[in-house]
Amino acid sequence: MEPFDSHFARLYQRIGVPVQTTSAALLARAIAARSALGSQPHTDCWESWGIDRAAFAAVTSAIEAARTARERAYAPYSNFRVGAAVLDVHQQVWVGANVENASYGLTLCAERAALCAAQVGGAGSVMLLCVVADTPEPIAPCGACRQWIIELAPSAIVAMISTHQGERWLPAAELLPFAFDRNMFHPSREH
Ligand SMILES: [Zn+2]
Repeated sequence: MEPFDSHFARLYQRIGVPVQTTSAALLARAIAARSALGSQPHTDCWESWGIDRAAFAAVTSAIEAARTARERAYAPYSNFRVGAAVLDVHQQVWVGANVENASYGLTLCAERAALCAAQVGGAGSVMLLCVVADTPEPIAPCGACRQWIIELAPSAIVAMISTHQGERWLPAAELLPFAFDRNMFHPSREH
């Protein structure tokens, strides 16, 4: 079976992005192209580009996992439930949901909960972070979570999904331009 990443290489040709682009960026462009196609069924669209059903199914299952995780949020104060799921290069999925506290400032966001689970669970390179909430527009990670995403999933795509309608897919780097990261204080080190 081909590696998960390689399915996105063909897509690459389809949408004409530079060769040195990361697999995560390929996925971003795939999804942007997918969105642009509007009502065309996702599987038909991806398959026409040589992306197999298994790769597509991995993305879809991560989204569903985030939806399910949202139902397990602990949000007695705000009643605002958020679910998140991390999909890594091995097609493994880890989930998180927001967990509130009577001391409001201690509340943990779904994105950080999912990133913790993935990190401790031994995730490989993170391809996708899905976030699902009951918002009129696709939910956007808060500033704190964006910093976490840059730390633990710097080349991931962030899929922001409303339970009503609407999705927004962006590379993590576009969510937090000019990010502070380890290169700021260890300029010679790489990620
Ligand atoms: Zn957050």
